Amino acid sequence: MRPHNFSAGPAGLPEAVLERARAELLDFRGSGASVMELSHRGPVFMQLVEEIEARLRALMAVPDEYAVLFFQGGATLQFSTLVWNLIGDADGGDYVVTGLWSDKAQRVASALCEARVACSTQRPDGGFDRVPAPADIDIDPDAAWLHYCPNETVHGIEFPYVPDAGAVPLVADYSSSILSQPVDVSRFGVLYAGAQKNLGPAGITLVIVRRDLIRPPTPGTPAILSYAGQAGRDSMLNTPPTFAWYLLGLVLEWVEEQGGAEAMATRSQRKADTLYSAIDASNYYTNAVALDSRSRVNVTFDLAEPERVGAFVAAAESAGLLALKGHSAVGGLRASLYNAVSQQAVDDLVAFMTEFERTRG
Ligand SMILES: *Cc1c(COP(=O)(O)O)cnc(C)c1O
Repeated sequence: MRPHNFSAGPAGLPEAVLERARAELLDFRGSGASVMELSHRGPVFMQLVEEIEARLRALMAVPDEYAVLFFQGGATLQFSTLVWNLIGDADGGDYVVTGLWSDKAQRVASALCEARVACSTQRPDGGFDRVPAPADIDIDPDAAWLHYCPNETVHGIEFPYVPDAGAVPLVADYSSSILSQPVDVSRFGVLYAGAQKNLGPAGITLVIVRRDLIRPPTPGTPAILSYAGQAGRDSMLNTPPTFAWYLLGLVLEWVEEQGGAEAMATRSQRKADTLYSAIDASNYYTNAVALDSRSRVNVTFDLAEPERVGAFVAAAESAGLLALKGHSAVGGLRASLYNAVSQQAVDDLVAFMTEFERTRG
């Protein structure tokens, strides 16, 4: 058996997906070539991307008035891409800052436009431990968008609600929680996600945009970063990352086989409950996030003896539990419980934690 992988990203992929990719590697659908050796504009690959879009639309119940686009450059490039595409005649957009990623998005935007902080939950010491109350988000009605991050991957903070932005288009960086539960896409103007947490390997980024927001971008914007340009050319204004796209398709098929977003939500909740219960029941492990803001997918935790974090990570690795070290910005430990992480993996982690606490490694 392969070890359990709790990596925050690039994250573990379902083993069935890797096996399938291996089986299909040398000859994709009878073409005589690997999928990564095919023309992206040829019939075999074009057929594949049509299937992938249809599958994604079904899994996420994406309404017809939304375009499904794929970009390169990760979620990070979307921080500026969204500015160029959404700003129109406005001065800028509003930001809800709840952790490292929404803070980065705001900082990138502030170099390009007025990126007003509509709300920040940053503590005086620089840390983050909660989402705001809905009433604390002060939206400028003239903002061209309101940006937030539904799940802060580094801090382990997740919104239990979708902010109400009124007539202002809501933009969400869904990189780490996409497809971990059903989402009402109609609440959003734009929803984007780098693939390497819950959708596939690194190298491809999903962008779902309400079609009325697809307008000519700011003059000078590279064509490959234009929503309109990519929408008009099947997200193939240049050579797309075909192998990553294919793997993303396999992951979607796997999610579908598992029962779709509803099934992922049930599993996700159970995995999170298992781990948080173990943390809460112990005097040795702690989680610093407010109860209503705890992430279902990135569980951050600390030891009562912080100096033993390195020993914990090393012992866990030897026990077949990989990538539990916290992000360098916050330290401590983090278990990412994305869709590909099984309940068994979480049960094994909890058993390991109990034993580590008892024996101190
Ligand atoms: C990982 C992550 C990013 C950065 O993604 P890249 O694809 O590396 O640019 C941005 N936002 C969130 C919420 C993430 O989890």
